[in-house]
Amino acid sequence: MDVLKILKELFPINRSITGDGLRESFAVMKKYVPLSIIEYKSKMQCYDWQIPLEWNVTKAYIKDSNNKTIIDFKDNNLHLMGYSTNFEGYMDLTQLKKHLYTIKEQPNAIPFVTSYYEKKWGFCIEYNKYIELKEDQYYVLIDSTHKEGSLTLAEGYIKGQSEKEILLHSYVGHPSMANDQLSGPLSLLLVYEYLLKHNDDLRYSYRILLTPETIGTISYIYNNIDSLKKNVIGGYVICFTGDQSEIKYKQSKRIDSLSNKAITNIMKIENNENIYPYSPIGCDERHFNCHGIDLPIGCIMRSGPGNYDEYHTSLDNIEFVDVEKISEVSKIVIEAIKNIEINDVINPKHTMCEPKLDKLGLYPKTAGKLANKEKAFEVLNIWGHSDGKKDVIDIANLINKKAYTLKNTIEESKKNNLISIGDNNA
Ligand code: ZN
Repeated sequence: MDVLKILKELFPINRSITGDGLRESFAVMKKYVPLSIIEYKSKMQCYDWQIPLEWNVTKAYIKDSNNKTIIDFKDNNLHLMGYSTNFEGYMDLTQLKKHLYTIKEQPNAIPFVTSYYEKKWGFCIEYNKYIELKEDQYYVLIDSTHKEGSLTLAEGYIKGQSEKEILLHSYVGHPSMANDQLSGPLSLLLVYEYLLKHNDDLRYSYRILLTPETIGTISYIYNNIDSLKKNVIGGYVICFTGDQSEIKYKQSKRIDSLSNKAITNIMKIENNENIYPYSPIGCDERHFNCHGIDLPIGCIMRSGPGNYDEYHTSLDNIEFVDVEKISEVSKIVIEAIKNIEINDVINPKHTMCEPKLDKLGLYPKTAGKLANKEKAFEVLNIWGHSDGKKDVIDIANLINKKAYTLKNTIEESKKNNLISIGDNNA
């Protein structure tokens, strides 16, 4: 999958929390992976939230009295405040400035501003251009619609041997910015691509979910709460993966969840200690973990919302993100999935004294300094630490290994009646 190519296709589209830009974006993703499109009707009440009217824009610009275009949505869709109402009229500079948003500290950046739930209109402009504006009579046109339509989501599903499922989520609903709301979906698509390639021997089922942030995620939860509660045993929200910050993991609220255990094992082996406790402030993992929902979903990211200067500006562009970084995050999620797939409680089966491993062909025949005892030690460790309570990840943590790398040794130890497999700890 060529991440940069897809990023370039998705970047220019005018997305919001509803509208044709979302549909167009999912149509781009659908060229690469199978996705079903879900539409939830405007005004649907989802717990405390309501799906807003669908917003679409055809054109939006400001012209001066010489008919010269000052700002045009066509040049950069961040120029128009998200969810701006329809408007046409003339006004002087003082009146116009009430509708202009700019950032003095970042004079070359167009800010990203929205007003989803209050009806107003506005334009966003570089401060350097803002200060150049002269007293004049300006013509403003915004051809936008707020109509009863729907909110669009996309979903993929891979059936494993078990109905129990791992939920992998990212949110998408910003216009032309790259790290915020495109890098996460791209990391997710890479994980999805891996799962599609390995779908013959998956133990769990996998649900891939792409929703507009907050209202999209809440409306999905509202419409699927029973099956989510019944089947989801873990998963991850993936976002802000394209910048240069180190990878961070925010734990699910249920501290001993499989999601937390599986990814923590991988990160610790890689000496990445950026693991943080759950907080109700953050990305869309907060909706999965909140009261009444209680799904054990963690969040993997790099910078995170508000944690970089380019955040919510036109400087969060294609050049700002690094496709290598996007792919590194997907690799960690894939490794966590491999841990989830392999994790079971281990019971000791050989229960009197140490087994003589050379009889089983599991110990090097020639002893001494040069003998490769690594495999034998792995067998002894797995067998020796097994107690019917610790699972593969627990034991891997004790011996400083990534849990999934023990897969073959566990198989051999099982075949040789040293251990047996109990339940998983999910
Ligand atoms: Zn954002």
